[in-house]
Amino acid sequence: MGSNDLADANECGIGVREILSGDGTVRRRLMVHCDPRSEAVYVSNCAACERCIGFRPPGHGQSGTVLCRRFEGEPTPPVDAGMQAPVRAVMERNIVCVRPDVRVETIAALLLEWGADGVPVVDEEGHPIGMISWTDLLRERLDGTSAPSGPGEAGGADLPSGAPTHATAGDVMTPLVFSVVESTELSRAAALMSAEGFEQLPVVMGDGSVGGLLSTRDVARWVGSSERSGK
Ligand code: SF4
Repeated sequence: MGSNDLADANECGIGVREILSGDGTVRRRLMVHCDPRSEAVYVSNCAACERCIGFRPPGHGQSGTVLCRRFEGEPTPPVDAGMQAPVRAVMERNIVCVRPDVRVETIAALLLEWGADGVPVVDEEGHPIGMISWTDLLRERLDGTSAPSGPGEAGGADLPSGAPTHATAGDVMTPLVFSVVESTELSRAAALMSAEGFEQLPVVMGDGSVGGLLSTRDVARWVGSSERSGK
């Protein structure tokens, strides 16, 4: 890889999607947003692409990147700003999804570990079929076989330490009615979340599988940074 190559390269951040199954197996895929194709692609496809210059591995808390050649005369990609930005500029790219057979105690531990508010439930192909939030887990605890037994348990964070139930993601998830694609304008996605009362929305790739997650927290953070930078 020569220095001229790097000067003409776009660095595209890699996202990681993990899908956890009830038997403990994890399927991991790396994804990157491809500007020429205007969609997310699996990084495994990049090696065969004529634009691919190389890969920068992850490290120091940073995701890896794909280095893509920019051909002469091609414009640099526009800088995304404000509420007209596409969802892909704002969404979380490193995500964990669960299959319907994962137990609720495992999901509560996952949410704690990731500091997340919810997790998508997906089918065999990674297509979203539902969402699970702390609210769903709490409802299961209140309505299910093991009622809260002490102060703090109803707050969510103590949920994993309660008596185990046999409930799984498929039992407690909120079935999915909506998802958005990466190119959806942020204002439209935010309006949908507000109207339907969603805290999180899965973002799907061209093949219909989950490629990211958009939360109200992401939207608020984006609006705040746009205001500060005057974009
Ligand atoms: S290497 Fe090719 S397929 Fe991969 S992101 Fe870059 S342009 Fe797209």
